[in-house]
Amino acid sequence: MTIRINLCFSSNYSSLKTLSIDGHFTFDDVHHAAKDFGNRFQLLPFAVLHPRSVSDIATTIKHIWQMGPHSQLTVAARGHGHSLQGQAQAHRGVVINMGSLQGPKMHVHSGNYSYVDVSGGELWINILHESLKYGLAPKSWTDYLHLTVGGTLSNAGISGQAFRYGPQISNVYQLEVVTGKGEVVNCSENQNGDLFHSVLGGLGQFGIITRARISLEPAPDMVKWIKVLYSDFTTFTRDQELLIYAESTFDYIEGFVIINRTGLLNNWRWDNRTSAVIPEEDIFYLVAFLSSAVPSSTGTDGLEHILNQNRRILEFCGTARLGFKQYLPHYTTQEEWQAHFGPQWEVFVQRKSAYDPLAILAPGQRIFQKAIPFS
Ligand SMILES: Cc1cc2nc3c(=O)[nH]c(=O)nc-3n(C[C@H](O)[C@H](O)[C@H](O)COP(=O)(O)OP(=O)(O)OC[C@H]3O[C@@H](n4cnc5c(N)ncnc54)[C@H](O)[C@@H]3O)c2cc1C
Repeated sequence: MTIRINLCFSSNYSSLKTLSIDGHFTFDDVHHAAKDFGNRFQLLPFAVLHPRSVSDIATTIKHIWQMGPHSQLTVAARGHGHSLQGQAQAHRGVVINMGSLQGPKMHVHSGNYSYVDVSGGELWINILHESLKYGLAPKSWTDYLHLTVGGTLSNAGISGQAFRYGPQISNVYQLEVVTGKGEVVNCSENQNGDLFHSVLGGLGQFGIITRARISLEPAPDMVKWIKVLYSDFTTFTRDQELLIYAESTFDYIEGFVIINRTGLLNNWRWDNRTSAVIPEEDIFYLVAFLSSAVPSSTGTDGLEHILNQNRRILEFCGTARLGFKQYLPHYTTQEEWQAHFGPQWEVFVQRKSAYDPLAILAPGQRIFQKAIPFS
């Protein structure tokens, strides 16, 4: 058994080593790629690719695709590693450090139809700084900006503007994607539309986003920020719902509940062709419990306690038959994933077999296993 693993190791090593790329692989110093923000999963990759060009990514994936289903190698793009459950990790696979991808410089196009062309590994904070030089800014944000374009577009990218502009995945004009077969494809609504919609909210399953064209609007010079305190929850939700329906109100609406926080979303400008799934109701809330696990002096495992609370909340929603979806979903069985996607599961599987038939990409999401046929 040991000999087989060693043989596998040495053949993977020599085959990756001989690839002709502009960047480089590291094989020893890979521990960083086995960590993420959640600090719960540590899956050591076989190698880390530091690409300098899109072609480095395409060459690597094509090579692994050509090795066929018998090679265990998988590939995960790592944006800023702010996943909570190992989603950007690849156990004994190749992790792509998207931050080292170099391409054409970030390019802001101003005019009636303003946009910025960025690398998939770019941080939103850098996009803000660059676009502000032109008096422009992206329309839809996340609250925290040290996240990458590829990382948030693989989920949805949501914040207090989503009720008006849609999530970030509704504010993208064009993508460059490397599929699970190593093909580099440009896509948009009108060009390779199915791949475009698959990748948006696609949990990294259908391709690596190497470039994106993000929609911009004039940045306001000043903002008015109004805080209102409620003691009655029903009045609070009634007012929030009034504000999101009314024209010419606010651009950003968010609510805080004592130490926790909720924000309101509705399905305004939500595009059902993307891979992201939402509850079926007309209006739904994003409820985020922003807690951190601090080691307790009593010796109780703080993290386990929080995870248990999360489980109980989800169980309650299930028992009370409340329509809900997990954002940044994490499941361990394919049955659970099937239930998460509901009627969209079939389309998700079809898209996987079209764009990544060997299930090489984003193994850390634990949706498909390499070389196990989809059902
Ligand atoms: C402190 C904090 C604040 C947050 N705030 C918000 C918020 O306000 N709104 C919100 O919507 N989310 C928020 N998130 C969640 C965040 O959007 C996701 O965790 C996101 O995936 C993190 O981006 P990242 O660049 O770190 O991605 P990573 O963790 O590196 O990757 C996430 C997933 O995307 C895949 N991926 C990464 N890059 C690419 C690419 N270029 N192409 C294809 N797939 C790729 C990875 O393989 C992995 O499966 C927050 C998370 C944290 C930790």
